[in-house]
Amino acid sequence: MSRAPGTASSKAATLRLRVTAAAESIIRSGHPWLFADSIREQNREGDPGELAVIYDRKDRFLAVGLYDPDSAIRVRVLHAGKPQVIDRDWWRTRLKEAIARRNGVCDDQTTGYRLINGESDGWPGLVLDRYDTTLVLKLYTAVWLPRLDEIVSFIREALRPGRLVLRLSRNIQEMASEKFSLADGQALFGDRLEACPTFLESGLRFEADVLRGQKTGFFLDQRENRRLIESLAKGREVLNAFSFTGGFSLYAARGGARHVTDLDISEHALTGAKRNFALNTDVDAVASCGHEMIQADAFEWLEKPVKPRFDLLILDPPSLAKRESERGGAIRAYERLAASGIRLLRTGGILAAASCSAHVPAEDFFASVLRAAACSGRQFREVERTGHPPDHPATFPEARYLKCVFFGIR
Ligand code: SAH
Repeated sequence: MSRAPGTASSKAATLRLRVTAAAESIIRSGHPWLFADSIREQNREGDPGELAVIYDRKDRFLAVGLYDPDSAIRVRVLHAGKPQVIDRDWWRTRLKEAIARRNGVCDDQTTGYRLINGESDGWPGLVLDRYDTTLVLKLYTAVWLPRLDEIVSFIREALRPGRLVLRLSRNIQEMASEKFSLADGQALFGDRLEACPTFLESGLRFEADVLRGQKTGFFLDQRENRRLIESLAKGREVLNAFSFTGGFSLYAARGGARHVTDLDISEHALTGAKRNFALNTDVDAVASCGHEMIQADAFEWLEKPVKPRFDLLILDPPSLAKRESERGGAIRAYERLAASGIRLLRTGGILAAASCSAHVPAEDFFASVLRAAACSGRQFREVERTGHPPDHPATFPEARYLKCVFFGIR
């Protein structure tokens, strides 16, 4: 694993790009992506991960970013504005800034949270999550592969973790293996993981499936919504649809729910939920809460004609629009899900509906749940709308994926 930061072209002339007027103003406004079709001119072809300098129409410095010859997002901007040298100190400072942004998110009761959230923290396509002493570095773009040794050294220096696990998005796994001998799930340093690491979130203990799980092993982004659920759960019968490993359910149980049901299509997720409940039986309210698991397709299960029998229902499906063209269908699916959920709620029940589809804007999502409530023929009241938690900042439209709305239903 020895890759020099600058790769082969470090001796070649700086990679220089000139871009269209439209791209120029988009970059000036702070957007972090330059698309290939916005490039008017470039002095030579670049290597993955090499620094590219973008100039404006008057030949003034506009931005500098990481070049990716294989992606439609040709440059991921690191810095825009005044000319800037990107050296080791610059990277170190950028890392410290991301860490400082998390002050107040973590304490000894919350040892699992996001340290770097991609573009919105100035690290395009790179995520760093902490699960107690284990850090997980997830790369969504090949631009980081030639720089990995350097980045890892900064992370070790600043955070001194026990181990660092590498996760790679599917689209870069082949290149990582062939050109850099890197594999998804490999330990970049530290002991090999014998079991899933556990961590605390608001004092509850969870395990994170960092080697195989979605994202980096846990949905850290739902922490604030889970806290809200805890505050609403007392005495309630809860259905956690698309439960994954029972995150919302544990909070509901601690908040005094009578009974919680986890509903998920994945057996693997539900076994994780069972283990997470077992990890928290020292909490009396969790120990005394009934816990049931149903492995089924939630879209079908929720539409079954049954009597209203829940007082709190959480709907947190996976992304329903992977691309822009799927947006309309996703909005209809959210509405249908919310309508089915409301049918299962008793009088005085609460619906918490979340969406993680970046292609569905928050307003469209909220409107779809509102339509479902309006069409239910029941009285309803919106209790709360939420967005991104502080450790998952979202600084540009494509990064804003998470939204959740809470309705009281009579
Ligand atoms: N609420 C969870 C995260 C949900 S992620 C948390 O706070 O941790 C989405 C979950 O939906 C995954 O666990 C996935 O297995 C599940 N899922 C995907 N399609 C499904 C379907 N058709 N029916 C039920 N569950 C499904």
